[in-house]
Parts: sequence; structure tokens; C-alpha cells
Amino acid sequence: MQGPLIDTLARRGVTRRTFLKYCATLASMMALPPSVGRAMAEAMAAAKRPSVIWLPFQECTGCTESITRSHSPTIEGMIFDMVSLDYQETLMAAAGHQAEEARHAAMKENHGKYLLIVDGSIPLGIDGAYSCIGGRSNLDILKEAAEGAAAIVAMGSCASFGGIPKANPNPTGAVSVSDIVKDKPIVNIPGCPPIPVVMTGVLAHYLTFGSLPELDAQGRPKAFFGETIHDRCYRRPFYDQGKFAKTFDDEGARQGWCLFELGCKGPVTHNACATVKWNGGTSWPVESGHGCIGCSEPDFWDGGGFYKALSVPADPLKIGAAAAVAGAAAGVAVSFANRAKKKAAKAAHETTTLDDLEK
Ligand code: SF4
Ligand code: SF4
Repeated sequence: MQGPLIDTLARRGVTRRTFLKYCATLASMMALPPSVGRAMAEAMAAAKRPSVIWLPFQECTGCTESITRSHSPTIEGMIFDMVSLDYQETLMAAAGHQAEEARHAAMKENHGKYLLIVDGSIPLGIDGAYSCIGGRSNLDILKEAAEGAAAIVAMGSCASFGGIPKANPNPTGAVSVSDIVKDKPIVNIPGCPPIPVVMTGVLAHYLTFGSLPELDAQGRPKAFFGETIHDRCYRRPFYDQGKFAKTFDDEGARQGWCLFELGCKGPVTHNACATVKWNGGTSWPVESGHGCIGCSEPDFWDGGGFYKALSVPADPLKIGAAAAVAGAAAGVAVSFANRAKKKAAKAAHETTTLDDLEK
């Protein structure tokens, strides 16, 4: 297996063996057969570097920082060597008119073939004037760039669902990419920020198979967003035993008990944090002692109540699309119902809370 990507990785201390292992892990995370790991590695190594145009709109640069991990470059960041990143304001050396010219040249040369990555929401208020680049609104630039794109990756919760800029009262009229673009394949990779390896997985899939991976009802890759945080959380046995931390520094917290009563939104949040973790698999929020705040679900900020326990099934947290929340809440409801039976129960129509069950 040879190619410019392998040479580049080698120069950065990533051996061919490490790269193969990484691709095998990636394939397994995406529930693909083990043989696909090698095929992915070969496809990535051999692929003609596709043109990628990355447009940062109304955002905080957290998504770019998450992917590139500039404080500690990782294989996920280096994987960008497998694409020709023709425009990314934060990373490119060019500025001003030179940068705009580079984007237009790449769009013209690769019309119909380039991958468009967008992070940040798109403000529609006062004709899009809240966020402009080179005197043009984000809306205008997005429409122009989307027209010649083969596919679009909405990176992060702002591009996927509007994110924090769209939170009530949404002063800029922020919307998501899919609110604007209706005629292109779009994959949402939400998270505030998104997990780097999810981006790598989507890119690897695109380069290997020439298509986007299978998506869920929210346009997210099923391989990474198919389960809730709660489904795979290592604190789940404590949840099932009814052992809950009541404060962040009580004995339960010290024992690593479930953070549900401290507001964890893991039961209604679809993401891969519990399995993939963060910072190269070092840890993740729940492992660090803080509940999930639901950052990869639509309108998570407006759901609020980050330290308020979910109340199910009568009052599920208003985050996520109705179907996703209903599905997740139903799962929680089953668990609650089982516990409720053991506790000899409440009427089925009542709001069931943990406090109720503990009585
Ligand atoms: S409620 Fe949160 S901390 Fe508890 S098991 Fe579920 S995801 Fe883990
Ligand atoms: S644990 Fe929850 S809030 Fe934290 S990054 Fe993962 S999905 Fe987002």
C-alpha cells in the first residue's frame, strides 16, 4: 500500500501499520465488515485527492479546532491530507481577495465534484447581513457553493440544526444548511463540537464507496448516531440499580453513580461519545463527572435545564426531533416502567419521575 497519504503520514510518525489499524477500527465503528478496513485504507491511500471547500459561517471555530486538534495533531487531523482542502478561512494562508479567488477557482475547476463542508449556522435576518465574508452574506455564498457541490457535510450542531445561534430568541434568524439547500445529498455531523473521528469516518466512507453513509431521520450517520449516550454509558448499571448521585460531590458522585438526577440528557441524546470518547479516547463528559447536555440533538440549548432531571414519559425534554425523542423516551419509559413495577407502581398516565419511583 503506497501513496502520497502514506508518505505524508509516515513523515508525521504514523506508520503504515498504525494507519491500517486505524482504518480497521474506523470500519468496526461504522459496523462494516473487517475486510472493509483494508479496502478503506487502500482507497484512501490511492484516492485522487478530492477537492474540499469548507465554509465557516456563524460559528465559534470550535468545530475546526475539534477536527484539527491543533494543540495535539492526531491521525484524524492528518487525514485531511487525503483531500485537497481548497478553501478554509481559518487554516489557509491566503486572505482577502486572494482567498476568495482560490475558492472560485476550485469551484470552477471541480464543478459538480467537490465536497462542501459547512460549519456554523446561516443568519437570514436583515438580508443575511449579520454574517458576511468579502461583503457577501453567508446565504449568498452557501447557495453559490452548494450549486456545484457533489455532496455537503454540515459540520457541528450549528450547521446541522442551527445550534446555539438559533436558540430562542434567535436574534439573527439563524437556520441550518438543510433549511436552505434542498437538492443535494447532505450529511449532518452534529455535536458542539462534533467528534473528530466521525468526520474522518464520513470522509473515509465517501472516498471508499463514493457515497455518504447510511443516515438516520435527522440526517446523521447511523453508524455513529444510531444509539443514545445512555445505551452505551458505562454508568448504566448504576442507573438500572437506581443508584444516583444527588450532588456533584456526594458519595454517589465519588462512587461514579449515574448522573441522571443531576440532569444528564444521555437517555435522549444520540451520539458516539460513550464509545468513541474524546481526545484520542482519553475520556468523555460523563466519565469526567458531568452529565450529557444533549449537544448533538436539534434545539438542545432551548431544551435547557441542563441540571434538571428528565421527567418521563409525560414530560420528555424538548430536545431532538419528535420521533427521535419519542423513540429515546420510549426506551427510557420501558426502563422506568420496569422499575416502577418493582416499586409497585403508579398509574400509567401519571408523570413518572425518579423521585416517584423511590418513594
Ligand atoms: S443517565 Fe447519563 S450518566 Fe446515567 S447511565 Fe444514562 S447516560 Fe450514563
Ligand atoms: S456527552 Fe452529550 S453533551 Fe457531551 S459531547 Fe457527547 S453528546 Fe455532546
